[in-house]
Amino acid sequence: MAQKIPTRLYLSEDEIPKFWYNLRADMTEKPDPILHPGTLKPATAADLEPVFCKEPVKQELDDATRLIPIPEGIQEFYRAYRPAPLIRAYFLEKALETPAEIYYKFEGTNTSGSHKLNSAAAQAFYAREEGLSSLTTETGAGQWGTAMAMACAFYGLKLTVYMVKVSSEQKPYRKALIETYGAELIPSPSNTTESGKKILEKDPNTGGSLGCAISEAVERAVKSDKCRYVLGSVLNHVLLHQSVIGQEAKAALDKYGVKPDIIIGCAGGGSNLGGLIAPFIGEKITGKSNTRFIAVEPASCPSFTRGRYAYDFGDTAKTTPLMRMYTLGNGFIPSANHAGGLRYHGMNSVLSKLYKDGCLEARSEVQTGVFDAAVRFMKAEGILPAPESSHAIKAAMDEALECKRTGEKKVILFGLTGTGYFDLTAYMAYNTKTMTDHIPTDAELEQGFASLPDIPQNK
Ligand SMILES: *Cc1c(COP(=O)(O)O)cnc(C)c1O
Repeated sequence: MAQKIPTRLYLSEDEIPKFWYNLRADMTEKPDPILHPGTLKPATAADLEPVFCKEPVKQELDDATRLIPIPEGIQEFYRAYRPAPLIRAYFLEKALETPAEIYYKFEGTNTSGSHKLNSAAAQAFYAREEGLSSLTTETGAGQWGTAMAMACAFYGLKLTVYMVKVSSEQKPYRKALIETYGAELIPSPSNTTESGKKILEKDPNTGGSLGCAISEAVERAVKSDKCRYVLGSVLNHVLLHQSVIGQEAKAALDKYGVKPDIIIGCAGGGSNLGGLIAPFIGEKITGKSNTRFIAVEPASCPSFTRGRYAYDFGDTAKTTPLMRMYTLGNGFIPSANHAGGLRYHGMNSVLSKLYKDGCLEARSEVQTGVFDAAVRFMKAEGILPAPESSHAIKAAMDEALECKRTGEKKVILFGLTGTGYFDLTAYMAYNTKTMTDHIPTDAELEQGFASLPDIPQNK
């Protein structure tokens, strides 16, 4: 008889991954290269190094090395908060009366409250090794800013965080936490950069966007000495660092002989989803499994489900290299949405390629439906989920309810990327029924598409 699956599928400290898994090495069809925006030729390390740290740049461009060793200095940091729990959602299964088995990988146990620390630790470590003294970055919902503030405090680096203005207003405690870890926080757009000033001139009342905060942080980094810019999502090296999520989940499930039929993750820029599915999709590509993979995004910022597959900039000021991805256009400014971490116009290029090739499914959800699912989940499982993570919860519940209808006993794994303690304003809006759903019209999307670069590759 199969052994009973415990509620928590524990791993020991020794089982924390010692390598990152580079999914691109197993892809038979590689994602299209990043392009230099001036020459339109594939970007080289020399193109990227003025902005980013050296080692992450190497990882960004590496499509071939399957396993990349995690330096001891980063493993040390990981041991402070990993392995992250993998939990069997017995209570949720019961509440839904589903024959499905539901598991979730919970990345919210560290103080930043999300998976972002996995890449923040790596990027801060490499910056210190390279001899830099400071870093700049942007943050949307605040999780990445907090994660970087924690990592910079640990590795002894200065940090400036450009925080999307609406988020800094919605989440004063996030701001306080980032500042308490010792980072400087500037609401974006701001008057501290040329790109910020330009955006403010056009629209003084803008609440800002990730794309615009990125422009400011990049500008500050390239204009400062011994300073580089770090990004918490979208890029390949960030997905690489997040592969610890999927590797741990797989190791814990393997111990009990559990094979997921469906793996679900919320998708902002794609890093947690990419990290969670990495080892599993590797098996699918090499023909060893038939797992389905589902990306869930907000209906207010539907990069996969309504975006174009095109070369686009990562930021509003059109300064970053060009990436081929599903995008709403760098000029797209999503409406205020409580899942701030999912308000990004583009999507990682590896995931975009997998979606294009039919290896990955995607769906979008409106926020009231997402919060319905979040509240049902927290009442059953006890954990207050981040609004971002709740997109994955919604899809996992829908799949489990589908199993109830068909009587199938599928195994569902989803990523619970973080906690919602700093999102209680959103829960208050939900409770008082003042939460609204914004779905952009086709005309609004056209405005975003108009900002796509006019280059031969996009014809
Ligand atoms: C940032 C964030 C996300 C979305 O980012 P990805 O790069 O798409 O993973 C999801 N959940 C939480 C809790 C986040 O902080």
